Amino acid sequence: MNNKQPHQDTVCIHAGKQKDGHHGALTSPLYQTSTFVFDNAAQGAARFAGEEPGYIYTRLGNPTVRELELKMAALEKMEDAAATATGMAAVSGAVLSFLEAGDHIIACKAVYGCTYALLSHQLPKWGIEVTFVDMDNEEELEQALRSNTKMVFAETPINPNLKVLDLELIGDFCEKHDLISVVDNTFMSPMLQTPVDYGIDIVIHSATKYLNGHGDVVAGVIVSSKERIETIKLTILKDVGGTISPHDAWLILRGLKTLPIRVERHCKSALTIAEYLESHPMVAEVYYPGLKSHQGYKFIGSQMKAAGGVIGFELMATLEEGQAFIDAMQLFSIAVSLGDAESLIQHPASMTHSPYTQEERLAAGISDGLIRISIGLESTDDLIADLQQAFDRIVALRSDSVSTAGNWG
Ligand SMILES: *Cc1c(COP(=O)(O)O)cnc(C)c1O
Repeated sequence: MNNKQPHQDTVCIHAGKQKDGHHGALTSPLYQTSTFVFDNAAQGAARFAGEEPGYIYTRLGNPTVRELELKMAALEKMEDAAATATGMAAVSGAVLSFLEAGDHIIACKAVYGCTYALLSHQLPKWGIEVTFVDMDNEEELEQALRSNTKMVFAETPINPNLKVLDLELIGDFCEKHDLISVVDNTFMSPMLQTPVDYGIDIVIHSATKYLNGHGDVVAGVIVSSKERIETIKLTILKDVGGTISPHDAWLILRGLKTLPIRVERHCKSALTIAEYLESHPMVAEVYYPGLKSHQGYKFIGSQMKAAGGVIGFELMATLEEGQAFIDAMQLFSIAVSLGDAESLIQHPASMTHSPYTQEERLAAGISDGLIRISIGLESTDDLIADLQQAFDRIVALRSDSVSTAGNWG
């Protein structure tokens, strides 16, 4: 390879590969081992003392896991990465490694349900306070700032209304006040957005979603500076134990080879379907940053290359009709998660965002009538036909009964 920085598509396939000792295997072997044998006692001692490089025990590091970490660091254009057992192990690893009792964290409203539960229900038990804000402008962040604020946690686009936050605003604010910035980049993947471009310190992913892309793994990744990743690996990951299994890392490495073409197709199909939904009389509102009508549209082509594969929409229907709509789906599977080859449909209020109380949910802008779909890799013609027959089902229900349409819920 010449000195030119390779493109992301090439990085997905080649970065992180260690070529030695694999008998020339094209695909890196899976090191499915719990521990590593030392040549002698002195070597064991040297490895533990950090005087000699080499593996010790898989909770502390593994060659298959390392390949995934190096690849993710290259994709996010940061120094290093730590792979984790789940996306939540990445969130908790990033947060807990740098906060202690007496600290304060500012987070954006409507974060992923379990991230919300960690920040608002678990952290206070350990003496860490949290304030949720919209993060629409600097004043709002300034107002939330306290003398003990240490970290800002953001997710963009925010699930499930796909609101886009301004990463430059967040990066600048954190730099000005010497705070650690953390961004959950799960919905975009590094193909569409690299938060380090805006000075973000720590990027986390649920690798369960687009990175793996095949619906057969739960995992996460934390990407940051060499120094911070070392801290995370030597504290919370090592001592709390949320490290990834080598087999899961190997499956994600396989998934990553096709990430660029998968993401491109997810985005293209999602835009087609978002436009279809926007034109449908039974849909009150479509949340998709690829649509001109959406708040996030102005960030397309700059902060984010495209809008991703997840769409939220408000159905003009009663709760019963909404459930009938979901139940009528034949091609879409009724399931949480996203970024898979299969298209998925779910109801955030009763599923992904159920860790919120109803009051918290409404304050975060998650209505009872909101439906979230993750567009897979099927033909858009077939997906639209499936949605159409589900809308027709509601029409049929209405003509069967005298029920009148209102807002769902
Ligand atoms: C799924 C998800 C998580 C949690 O990841 P798991 O792999 O399920 O633990 C965190 N953040 C976002 C945005 C997610 O979609």
